[in-house]
Amino acid sequence: MAVSDHVDLETFMAGVAKRNPGQTEFIQAVHEVAQDIFEFMEDKVHYHEAQILRRMAEPDRVISFRVCWEDDNHNIRVQRGWRVQNNNAIGPYKGGIRFHPSVTESVLKFLAFEQTFKNSLTGLPMGGGKGGANFNPKGKSDAEVMRFCQSFMSELYRHIGPNTDVPAGDIGVGGREIGYMFGQYKRLTNRWEGVLTGKGQEYGGSEMRPEATGYGAVYFLQNMLKHQGMDVEGHTAVISGSGNVATHAAEKITQLGGKVLTLSDSGGFIHDPDGISQEKIDWVKHLKTVKRGRISEYVDEFSGATFHEGRPWGVAADLALPCATQNELNEGEAKSLVGNGVKGVSEGANMPTTLEGVKVFHDAKIMYGPGKAANAGGVAVSGLEMSQNSERISWNSERLGDMLTDLMEGIHGKCTEYGQQEGGYVDYVKGANIAGFKKVADAMMAFGVV
Ligand code: GLU
Repeated sequence: MAVSDHVDLETFMAGVAKRNPGQTEFIQAVHEVAQDIFEFMEDKVHYHEAQILRRMAEPDRVISFRVCWEDDNHNIRVQRGWRVQNNNAIGPYKGGIRFHPSVTESVLKFLAFEQTFKNSLTGLPMGGGKGGANFNPKGKSDAEVMRFCQSFMSELYRHIGPNTDVPAGDIGVGGREIGYMFGQYKRLTNRWEGVLTGKGQEYGGSEMRPEATGYGAVYFLQNMLKHQGMDVEGHTAVISGSGNVATHAAEKITQLGGKVLTLSDSGGFIHDPDGISQEKIDWVKHLKTVKRGRISEYVDEFSGATFHEGRPWGVAADLALPCATQNELNEGEAKSLVGNGVKGVSEGANMPTTLEGVKVFHDAKIMYGPGKAANAGGVAVSGLEMSQNSERISWNSERLGDMLTDLMEGIHGKCTEYGQQEGGYVDYVKGANIAGFKKVADAMMAFGVV
């Protein structure tokens, strides 16, 4: 009998912590998954013997590189870039690129690990990866962002490819940055190929990709509510963030007859008791993508709204959608949402709720959709962008909208398959972890020890 049969969760996590010193976000993400997988593997010795979880929690490779660029004042700036290729058992590495000062190897390793499970859940052939740099696009000119993106791609291009690794956007990387990076890849390789997703419509981007993450998070919420005989209509929602995910989540909630009360950025949040209508959402999209302004400017434009420092979780609402960043909703904030009668939480961001916060939702039996399931619509439509690029065709938004709705229903179904508890409650974290794990694990088992 293999030694690993006797390893328990605590010993396993001690090993992860020892091998990844100081990488708190990565350790947190592995812990969250390992809790459920250890229980699932209890009677499945073959996974233990093959050390499957241990192998999944060790990225295939972590590429780290220097990114030099010149700012508008002719200062030479040096940043660090990474690509974490976590697992390609079921398809090419796939996952976004994040540009934010908080980016570290730990953050990207956690994101690449989560991405592996998320991509598996979509049912599409995509492995897990993530990349980024500690570059802050805030306050930079277009020309500076272009030079940074070109320099970043000058190294990254040799590690990626349409059948190898297909990056996309994430925090700080939107249409503008994808355009600059795609242009540089094409220049360096002299190949037009679907190496990035989230591209502009003019050059191979997919319809519905911009909307997919936010809409998908609301569809997931809708599925959770439906499972308990409820609907979005007539319900209030608190949303954090004001980027691509948050604004499209707000749009879909509004379209379904819900009322969005808040949006936020790193400066604070706005509370609009009248509801953030489509017209107001369009104004925020323009503010954030064209003017690149602050959410506090909203209150000068729309009377009745107020601006507050901090996060929006103290505002009473039926639904909550954290759509900003990791660890933005802690135990105390989860208690406050529960105390105010929240019914459902759907994560547009990756790991926005801390482990302690998740426990509060589970103990209170609140419907809670973790990011790896709830926000998988974004990467799912990226997968469809890859298919369209390979076939050299484009599908219309109606067809893609229907596919997104079906994909989110499918992900919800997989979560309930493994997460249904006695008494009707669904543990979506457990469901997502086990369903995501099983497909990747079985593929790895087929390959033997590699
Ligand atoms: N960054 C997004 C995510 O966290 C999208 C990744 C992609 O489309 O590849 O899933």
